[in-house]
Amino acid sequence: MSSFIPLSIPNFCGNEKKYVDDALDGAWVSTSGAKVNEMEECVASYVGVSAVTACSSGSTALHLSAIVGGIQRGDEVIVPALTFIASVNPTTRYVGAEPVFIGCDETATMDPDTVEDFCANHCTMRDGKLYNDKTGAHVSAIVLVHVFGNMADVPRFLEIAKKYNLLLIEDAAEAIGTKYTEGPLAGSFAGTMGDIGVYSFNGNKIITTGTGGIFLSKRPEWVARAKHLSTQSKTDVLHFVHDEVGYNYRMTNIDACLGLAQMELLEGFIEHKIERYEQYCSALDGVKGFSMLPFREGTRSNHWFYSLLLPDRLDRDDVIARLQDQKIQTRPVWSLIPEQCDYQRNETFNLDQAKEFRRRIVNIPCSTNLTEEDCNRVIDAILAL
Ligand SMILES: *Cc1c(COP(=O)(O)O)cnc(C)c1O
Repeated sequence: MSSFIPLSIPNFCGNEKKYVDDALDGAWVSTSGAKVNEMEECVASYVGVSAVTACSSGSTALHLSAIVGGIQRGDEVIVPALTFIASVNPTTRYVGAEPVFIGCDETATMDPDTVEDFCANHCTMRDGKLYNDKTGAHVSAIVLVHVFGNMADVPRFLEIAKKYNLLLIEDAAEAIGTKYTEGPLAGSFAGTMGDIGVYSFNGNKIITTGTGGIFLSKRPEWVARAKHLSTQSKTDVLHFVHDEVGYNYRMTNIDACLGLAQMELLEGFIEHKIERYEQYCSALDGVKGFSMLPFREGTRSNHWFYSLLLPDRLDRDDVIARLQDQKIQTRPVWSLIPEQCDYQRNETFNLDQAKEFRRRIVNIPCSTNLTEEDCNRVIDAILAL
């Protein structure tokens, strides 16, 4: 009887138990504890920034991004239609702002041409600020998502953000480790190039703390403000004086122990993911109408998710069910955000490619401990479809 092959599961093969045991022995389980600071230093030095703030999740880090970045009630925020819902909720509705949804290009990341067209032809600059002609609202920010660990077109978005005076938040929740290897941004990691960046350590991400996240910015005062807000904006440990409305958003010491152990494993995980991705590509890409979504040239992606593009003859849901029958877990891309919650009333631009990917992509097993044999089992099952 063959075993179940999951889509993406945590892999605790390093010092996780040891570090957590140490924390339990010292009873450092909550948000104070030396490991949270160590985790911050570890991530900051890995991606080459001076400081970061460790948060309770990627979602809470994104909420802090919206507040610290100054997104105001009534503002509009440019967001991708093809992403996880947590790119959008915390950066728009949590702070009383509204999204403008943009489709993706063939890389599955937000299409810069469509964003440029929206800013140039559907908005007007007044006194150095961008206003939506249709709604009159101030368009104040872009949330750029590095979908599935694939680097979005950062140089284009830096240009657009500068030209239209927009805050650039990089949702790199799925992309820790992804970096440019060529061009003027060579050496820069996803999340470090915009005004604010966010990572997630949720259970399905490339490394995990159970739940956790990172807020980062090249502006030390923004990192400090995020930390302050994440600890209830407490200014005084004795009398409990709080100088603004804060949140309980800080990472716990236990989670930081997991994170420190996982950070030691990250580069090895990426190597493993690249090997399995190449195994899939050599067997499937261009074979029987299948193709694999590529990662951007001139980058070293963390290869978080592997996206298989189905030929027209196959129905996505039927493929998922047939693979499930063989104990192989796969998943379509997310339902587009503008179809969800009450986002139907928000504007959308150029969703064709996103709809096409929604219809044709199946994400296939990509765990950091996926074996060569299991990978071959998945390949055989796909080729038999
Ligand atoms: C996982 C994820 C988030 C949210 O992170 P959590 O840690 O789960 O709150 C945000 N955006 C994207 C693109 C994600 O994949």
